[in-house]
Amino acid sequence: MKMEVNHILSKHILTEAKGYLDIGFTHSLNPYSGCAFSCKYCYVREMPIQTFKDVPWGEWLDVKTNAAENYRNEIVKLRRKNKPVNIFMSSATDPYQPIERNANLTRGILQEMVENPPDFLQIQTRSPLITRDIDLLQKLQEKCGVLVSMTVETDREDIKRIFAPYAPGIALRIKALKTVHEAGITTQASISPVLPFTPDFPKLLEGIVEHIWIDTLMIGDGLMGKRSERLGMPQLFDEHELSKWYRKDIHVLVVKYFNQFFPSDMIRVSKKEAFPRKWHKLVFLLPLLVIGQLSKYNLNILYLLLQ
Ligand code: SF4
Repeated sequence: MKMEVNHILSKHILTEAKGYLDIGFTHSLNPYSGCAFSCKYCYVREMPIQTFKDVPWGEWLDVKTNAAENYRNEIVKLRRKNKPVNIFMSSATDPYQPIERNANLTRGILQEMVENPPDFLQIQTRSPLITRDIDLLQKLQEKCGVLVSMTVETDREDIKRIFAPYAPGIALRIKALKTVHEAGITTQASISPVLPFTPDFPKLLEGIVEHIWIDTLMIGDGLMGKRSERLGMPQLFDEHELSKWYRKDIHVLVVKYFNQFFPSDMIRVSKKEAFPRKWHKLVFLLPLLVIGQLSKYNLNILYLLLQ
């Protein structure tokens, strides 16, 4: 696919979390605008960043060359105001675009984060390229919470080819998850959006993830399925005789199935549980820590909450 690449200077890199992310995350961070992976179900296709654009989704990319510098300046200001910083990277692109291999934008941001860490960083990606940055993630997790969340919507490569033909292969993503996990970094498999999978899917994730996050085209597109409808998802499922997978309660069935393999506290579902519980609880107790009021009683509560 041809790609129009522009190098730009952006005004900000941290965007205050709203909507889907306003559940514990304080900011989203998108090192790029646009996305080479061009998933057919991508809800960003329906957002103003794309609807006001002449070039189709998947055929343009803005590289925010000053991303690392902006991050440094912005986190310093937030810290001066004692603001918590829980970052979701990324909400409207993948931080490991193919061009990242040479552009090193995301790597540059992680280097800055090692110097000026947030409280929590979740990296959401579909790319095995994240394994390149394991050295920085290991350093960073000594300073703040880190979660690497790899999207694996299905274990079927034929299904991936229908819905996300330009995204990295599923086997490569699972291999990358394993590598990150073995490097001691907390991992999550993001089955989002749920696509048809084989009965063996849970077994492929056993032992390589701490968390599983399940979301669907119906409840996870920000408009209760309307965006997915506008993107022609019901028709695409129908065309490939997959309609039985396109139903409002599919998340309930998938959770039930995955519960046969994983304890329920490993599984989170859609928006209300998207922010890792443990860190949510820490944020709740942060003000007590800051004002030095964390008594022995509070410490006991903290211990219990983190179990
Ligand atoms: S990787 Fe994410 S941002 Fe990129 S097209 Fe797919 S869903 Fe959209």
